[in-house]
Amino acid sequence: MSTAAFPTRIGFDEAARILDEVAAGARLPVERQPLSRCLGAVLAEDVIATLALPAFDNAAMDGFAVRAQDLAAGQGSLALVGEQFAGLDLARMLAPGQCLRITTGAPLPAGADAVVMKEDTQPVEGDRVRFGRPVRAGQHVRYAAEDVALGDTVLQAGAVLAPAALGLAAALGLPTLPIHRRPTVAVFTTGDELVPAGQVLQPGQIHDSNRVLLQTLLIADGFEPVAWPVLPDDPARITAALRDAAFSFDVIITCGGVSAGEKDHLPALLREAGEVHFWKVRMRPGMPLLAGRLGGAQLLCLPGNPVSVLATYLMLGRRLLDGLQGRRAARPRWQARLAGEFDKRHDRLEFLRGQLQADGDGGLRVLPNPADGSHRLRAVAQSNALIVLPEGPRRFGVGDLVEVVPLGRD
Ligand code: AMP
Ligand code: MG
Repeated sequence: MSTAAFPTRIGFDEAARILDEVAAGARLPVERQPLSRCLGAVLAEDVIATLALPAFDNAAMDGFAVRAQDLAAGQGSLALVGEQFAGLDLARMLAPGQCLRITTGAPLPAGADAVVMKEDTQPVEGDRVRFGRPVRAGQHVRYAAEDVALGDTVLQAGAVLAPAALGLAAALGLPTLPIHRRPTVAVFTTGDELVPAGQVLQPGQIHDSNRVLLQTLLIADGFEPVAWPVLPDDPARITAALRDAAFSFDVIITCGGVSAGEKDHLPALLREAGEVHFWKVRMRPGMPLLAGRLGGAQLLCLPGNPVSVLATYLMLGRRLLDGLQGRRAARPRWQARLAGEFDKRHDRLEFLRGQLQADGDGGLRVLPNPADGSHRLRAVAQSNALIVLPEGPRRFGVGDLVEVVPLGRD
């Protein structure tokens, strides 16, 4: 049995720091995946352009390639000497007095320096096209390398891959990208009182809401969690199940059984069977959070109250999962003006639930939900953000500036 002391009742920032450190020491291996499998993954290496974008000067409009000088006077007609469509560079040359029919994306013929859109010309008469407006050199031309130059670092290691980044990689000709493997995650709910939704409740029982809450929080973040059947408050059963999972999963997330009650077995269990990173964080909800390692798996034991599950997952669980994949940027936090009062009477960092809205004047306002008990899941279902209130008791008034964390999925 390990007798080493571990940090307890630590501040939120300290918990975050410890999880960052743990994650950095357990970063997941790099694998190559086809672009369509990379959405939301973390890029493992910088992407350097081996192709310029655009790769050649080309037309930005359907119309006619011209020499601007020929139409400097504003009006005139030019001899139509052929066409250059997108797809195959015919290596056409444009001599003074000539124009070429051209389509968007087609290579600009040598000698041409502007494109006139079809709508700004009169219909072709014989082999001549009439132009009615002055033409500026460079108009409707997309120049080679104006978006990306050869050798540019276009995506950086640690970036989260969004659709535009994946499109960019494809434009550069990359069929795959090196990403950090996504952590595999096992989910456990614990508690003698829990019954799955769909079954009849006996007196004293409640439905297991955290299982699906936690599963879908993880799914929303791009993971494919595997959830076990509910575990009873039986230390032997819990130990056996977690040990099993630790063989096959990168991360195990449990909920319930983690505070100081008679049936809260997880802290002692982890002390005996693994290693505790910390237990209890000065946050509300979510104070009893326990983090550690069991075999090769990182273990996060969330408190049982559903709102605590949500807050601890979003604020710290997700951080561990992000860190394991080498994500560089922090999750977004915004600032908003409080639209209602809140009397914070305790010391801990608070994650209140609220409704975030644009205030119509370029800012954000957030209305705290008065139902702030950590069992009150309906208040979360009615909210779209967590409101972060700093440590220490304080009366918050309407108009006070606070940090907010969007819940996403609006
Ligand atoms: P615990 O942390 O086990 O003491 O649980 C704290 C509170 O959360 C208790 O009221 C439990 O009944 C409740 N709870 C624990 N697990 C779940 C769950 N999976 N779904 C819904 N409520 C839960
Ligand atoms: Mg319990």
